Amino acid sequence: MMIDTGDVLIVGAGPVGLLTALALAQKGVSVTVVEAAEGVSDAPRAMVYFAPTMIALHELGLLDDVARQSVEGRAFGHHVPDFGVHLKIENSVMAGITFDYQLHCGQDIVARIAQQHAERLGVRVLFNHKLVALTQNADSAIATVQTPDGARDLRAKWIIGADGARSTVRQLLDIEFAGHTWGNRFVATNVYCDFSTLGYQAANFVCDPTYSAVIAVIDNKGLWRLTYQEDGTLPVDSFMERLPERYGFFIPQGTPFEIASANPYTIHQRCATTLRQGRILLAGDAAHATNPCGGLGLTTGLWSGMILSDTLAAVLQEDADEALLDRYSDERRRIFHEVTSPAASRNKRMLEEADPDQRRQDLAMVEAAAADPALARIMLSFPFKVIGDTLRPDSRWAHIDPTGPAGIDISARKSQLA
Ligand SMILES: Cc1cc2nc3c(=O)[nH]c(=O)nc-3n(C[C@H](O)[C@H](O)[C@H](O)COP(=O)(O)OP(=O)(O)OC[C@H]3O[C@@H](n4cnc5c(N)ncnc54)[C@H](O)[C@@H]3O)c2cc1C
Repeated sequence: MMIDTGDVLIVGAGPVGLLTALALAQKGVSVTVVEAAEGVSDAPRAMVYFAPTMIALHELGLLDDVARQSVEGRAFGHHVPDFGVHLKIENSVMAGITFDYQLHCGQDIVARIAQQHAERLGVRVLFNHKLVALTQNADSAIATVQTPDGARDLRAKWIIGADGARSTVRQLLDIEFAGHTWGNRFVATNVYCDFSTLGYQAANFVCDPTYSAVIAVIDNKGLWRLTYQEDGTLPVDSFMERLPERYGFFIPQGTPFEIASANPYTIHQRCATTLRQGRILLAGDAAHATNPCGGLGLTTGLWSGMILSDTLAAVLQEDADEALLDRYSDERRRIFHEVTSPAASRNKRMLEEADPDQRRQDLAMVEAAAADPALARIMLSFPFKVIGDTLRPDSRWAHIDPTGPAGIDISARKSQLA
């Protein structure tokens, strides 16, 4: 059965699919989202949102709703336990420039809020709809989905694959996911434990050749995230048996804790060789996947979705040249290769570095930032680089004001810019 779904069909109701759907719907584009699972995933993944993400959430009208369900993180901790070093960099150095805090909450919260706002604008989100085949011609693209009631063919003018790192869309188009997969495995655990009493800040790097980790608060009910690494050649099925030994490094004996969830992840640095094939486009992890050290995965994916929604809406509604979508592909690939992937790889290396000289060099850099607010500002401004070129001078994103959402009247400033 062939069903016309309108302008855009998005595959994947992860955070990028749902935020992109909302951004398109706010431009008056008709959007349907299909998702293989029965609901939005609760898996423990992204949970720290830096200023550039918060600015996008503000522009989309989601920031207040997300903030209500989040904790404000106001300092980063940098720990090198065997050097006896515990440094703190406070977000307050960013006051007057942009947000002087970041938001912490599970990505399922952001995705669900985006879904609610999108549905209010008429976006249809169809769960239990798994993409299995794709075709396209000069005017439209057709997705075949498996549903509990059988197969359906859904036609739209454009299709966006936001179906994660193992993207079916990307595989059906036979687009290479070029890059590499790391040998070690990440284990993301959500745990009730008061890490603030153990010397940790809201978000922390723990650098150690054996026991590196990222630790961050998730909510104000005592839930924290402890993500550590282990050798990827160890059997994945028995990772829980090894967990107590890992935990022992971060949580002193006798400290009460209760694990809420634990998930092992294989981690990649990979980018699709193109984000466009005719009428089908890629965004989010389907387009580019990174290790999570430094929280740049969803940060980059969200901005790919924002630039794509803007350029695609211009093609649909303003008769913009479709070549703009090739520029989307080129620019987002550039951001991944020049910004996201090198930074996340550097963070990962620093976390697990074994060479003593290199460790001292890494530490000197962080010590300098902890001692000098000007250097700390440079360090904390880094995630803004993932925004990249917004590709259209009259894009809603072209005059992003990093201070606007932090309290200054953004509309007044926008009219000054106009
Ligand atoms: C441990 C960990 C911690 C992280 N922390 C951070 C962080 O703090 N900050 C940050 O910015 N990033 C972080 N990330 C990265 C972040 O989680 C991802 O970048 C983000 O999930 C990408 O969102 P997405 O919507 O592109 O893909 P996904 O979240 O993977 O969603 C894809 C969706 O597509 C659906 N789907 C798949 N195949 C099909 C199909 N055939 N048909 C229909 N639907 C399909 C899936 O069911 C899924 O719902 C972290 C990742 C990990 C693993």
